[in-house]
Amino acid sequence: MATKRDYYEVLGVQKNASADEIKKAYRKMAKECHPDLHPNDKQAEERFKELNEAHEVLSDPDKRARYDQFGHDGPNMGGFGGAGGMGGFDFGGFGGMGDIFDQLFGGGMGGAARRNAPQQGNDLRYDMRLTFEEAAFGCEKSFDFTRNEHCETCHGTGAKPGTQPKVCPTCKGTGQVRVSGGFMMTVRTCSTCGGTGKIISDKCPSCGGAGLVRKKRTATVKVPAGIDHGQTIIMRGDGEPGVNGGPSGDLYIQVLVRPHKLFKRDGVNLHLDLPISFTQAALGADIDVPTLGGGKTSFHIPEGTQNDAEFRIKGQGVQQVRSNYRGDLILHVRVEIPRKLNEKQKDLLRQFDEISTGKEYEGRKSFLDKVKDLFN
Ligand SMILES: [Zn+2]
Ligand SMILES: [Zn+2]
Repeated sequence: MATKRDYYEVLGVQKNASADEIKKAYRKMAKECHPDLHPNDKQAEERFKELNEAHEVLSDPDKRARYDQFGHDGPNMGGFGGAGGMGGFDFGGFGGMGDIFDQLFGGGMGGAARRNAPQQGNDLRYDMRLTFEEAAFGCEKSFDFTRNEHCETCHGTGAKPGTQPKVCPTCKGTGQVRVSGGFMMTVRTCSTCGGTGKIISDKCPSCGGAGLVRKKRTATVKVPAGIDHGQTIIMRGDGEPGVNGGPSGDLYIQVLVRPHKLFKRDGVNLHLDLPISFTQAALGADIDVPTLGGGKTSFHIPEGTQNDAEFRIKGQGVQQVRSNYRGDLILHVRVEIPRKLNEKQKDLLRQFDEISTGKEYEGRKSFLDKVKDLFN
């Protein structure tokens, strides 16, 4: 028996993944490596089988628990001693063990049944880069992307015009065959049709029998004001075409917002580091504060403002998506101590110090008092 990959690794999830995460990962990957999209690709077929097996175990709390404890042979334990060697769960043949048989066998046959059922097409993802302002104020964006579409020559059948794909005689269109081995039975992918359930003798010249062709498309999306980095816009039905008449997949636009030179964003609030001089901090000052979008607003810094002080300007933040609410602009005061003073400036500061009593510095005074207590 070939070495098997770890089921969690197969699904690309963490060991502690929730049932929902496992389901999502499985659906996403099953779409990617579905044999219908990779005809005659042995590797994709193997991956698909491996994926189904991993999902079969990890989606069942009991099997998952046994797998966690015993590894790959775990899920087969309990009544099926030794059956683990068969690999997978598509086996059966124990008359009188109906329940367990159906449960284990169900996955294999379910797979065959699902294969010809309508399936939604692949979802696509597009990474859209926006400037800070485009995200904050909203915009309309056009972008190019490539997707598989039904071949126009054969209308997605993969067969040369005028001909039809035939139902595979080996598997009767299910894509899988049961192989009897003594009292056990295994289900394998049909080798005649490669699991598609169809035989195309005259391949369509445009798509080479795949039924799909790569097409470049341009889409336009209205980006709502207030969208943030990492958020997603979903364009329903703009993904790849469905299989067996299923609906098209969706196009997921992942928004990537470039950082701003001045502003930092936290939800609907903006943060701005505001450097002021030590004299402005001491005396107070009216300061022009830049606002998002290139404007400015006047803000009064009160006398005696300390370093790291925060001030809030209401309504100068970012709009909340699909709402009229706008967050605030939060100013973080950075008092700058002057460097490179000339002699005259230094002299004036010395004079200032000479006429200072110490009461000007509350924090320092309190500190010195505590130090004095300590030594008494
Ligand atoms: Zn074609
Ligand atoms: Zn077949």
